[in-house]
Amino acid sequence: MSFTLPALPYAHEALEPHFDTQTMQIHHGKHHQAYVDNLNKALDGSEHAGKSLEELMGMISKLSPAVRNNGGGHYNHSLFWQILAPNAGGQPTGALADAIQSQLGGFDQFKTDFNQAGMTRFGSGWAWLCVKADKTLCVCSTPNQDNPLMDIADCPGTPILGADVWEHAYYLHYQNRRADYLNAFWSVVNWEEVGRRYDAAMAS
Ligand code: MN
Repeated sequence: MSFTLPALPYAHEALEPHFDTQTMQIHHGKHHQAYVDNLNKALDGSEHAGKSLEELMGMISKLSPAVRNNGGGHYNHSLFWQILAPNAGGQPTGALADAIQSQLGGFDQFKTDFNQAGMTRFGSGWAWLCVKADKTLCVCSTPNQDNPLMDIADCPGTPILGADVWEHAYYLHYQNRRADYLNAFWSVVNWEEVGRRYDAAMAS
């Protein structure tokens, strides 16, 4: 059994004007597809073929750089498409909203800290909102295609929201302006999905 590229849950143009159509086409159809293809190549014939992405992330320190980079890339982008949506943005509700209020200093402070995590990640990587093992929230960033599920992560946890800060995520539309891209990100966050992931992480 090999990994396949998940379909986008909306049209390529659905996130305009925040995320442009051409970036979405290349990001999903070329970049994410390449992570899937290269992950399958790296696992082909190995004893780890058939493991789930989550299983691979949890033992990534024992696996090859190709599995780390491409498995991380596949996991991260699969999450990314799901936590975005057209006509979205706004603020979380329910238990997640309460947790952000009580643990992260409120929604505005959380946004500031998340943007800061994305802005201070030098080079390529991701900013994350995670549920840690003790069930509290944490904001952090990881380099390259690493993520908090990996057993080498500085900020281990279950990611429930992620922002791709690789230049390929924004360069066509925003050029070098990562801050503008991150500001636009908040207009397309699917808080219903992030809240669902929060509830699942709290229940697991
Ligand atoms: Mn990307």
